[in-house]
Amino acid sequence: MNFSAGPATLPPAVLEEARRDLVSLPGVGVSPLEISHRSPWFEGVIGEAEANVRDLLAVPEGYRVLFLQGGASMQFSMVPMNLGGTSGHVVTGSWSGKALAEAARLRSAVARWDGRDEGYVRVPAAEDLRLDAGDAYLHITSNETIHGVEWPAGAEPAASVLVCDTSSDFLSRPVDVGRYGLLYAGAQKNAGPAGVTIVIVREDVLERIPDGLPRLLDYRTYAEHGSLYNTPPVFAIYVVALVTRWLRHEVGGLGAQGAHNREKAGLLYGRIDDSGGLYRGHAVPDSRSLMNVTWRLPSPELDARFVGEATAEGLMGLKGHRSVGGIRASIYNALPLEGVRALASFMDGFARRNG
Ligand code: PMP
Repeated sequence: MNFSAGPATLPPAVLEEARRDLVSLPGVGVSPLEISHRSPWFEGVIGEAEANVRDLLAVPEGYRVLFLQGGASMQFSMVPMNLGGTSGHVVTGSWSGKALAEAARLRSAVARWDGRDEGYVRVPAAEDLRLDAGDAYLHITSNETIHGVEWPAGAEPAASVLVCDTSSDFLSRPVDVGRYGLLYAGAQKNAGPAGVTIVIVREDVLERIPDGLPRLLDYRTYAEHGSLYNTPPVFAIYVVALVTRWLRHEVGGLGAQGAHNREKAGLLYGRIDDSGGLYRGHAVPDSRSLMNVTWRLPSPELDARFVGEATAEGLMGLKGHRSVGGIRASIYNALPLEGVRALASFMDGFARRNG
């Protein structure tokens, strides 16, 4: 069971299909690694990937779905270049802090709330925010992958242009896309392999982009060319098409996936809450991530023993991010309930041995 934070576990049925197709696509006769991005096959693939994302998230009229490269980190620069002005930021962990720091290299960027002094354990309440109506946009990170802090669905602040880094909870639950000016996500947690970044942007936001940006850093280039201005990451987009097809037709959409994710996370948070202090959860309950469950034990030595013994039992990738230590269980869409059950029962056994 692969609890890695990303690249992360993918649905076995998707891996099997990609393996079957790898050497020669049925009916096409070449590999998805060697086929032209201008081929009818790939036009179908990118069209399906977009249609699946639109269907899963019920993307309203007036939004474009784009496929880019450069990772979510490149969006930390593209957003300020394209949207301009002073940006407001809600800093709930390392990734929103990086988005702020990168925006500040190019434009003026201001934290409208910063959870650093509290150790990034929560998202702010509405009254904590010091919003400024003059901000060109407000940037949030819907799920902090390192700290395990996630905005509860629907609790995000309102702004005329709300921008969201949704890299680590993309497609994990229903989202009201109409609240956002722009959403972006690297694919490598819930949507596919590394190499492609998905951007969903409202058309009026595209109209504000200043002329003169480098073409590949201008969202309009992707919107005007169906994300085919230059060679896109063909194989990564192909896997995104397979994963989103699986989500639609095997899982039954984001309502079903969201319920499944709540059940999985609930098993682990239940163990943390009932451990009598052995497992110390990082985030406050209202801000707990359904994707990255973070906790620590009473000492770094116990953390290390926990990770070592879990790894020996086939539970991989549980070491917390190097910047914060502790334990992190990333339980993205494709990590099955039985994997989480195996971890929960390992936690029970470890607690009995070390309690
Ligand atoms: N934002 C978040 C929330 C992330 O989790 C990550 C990657 N873990 C990034 C941004 C950076 O993504 P990339 O490595 O694709 O640039």
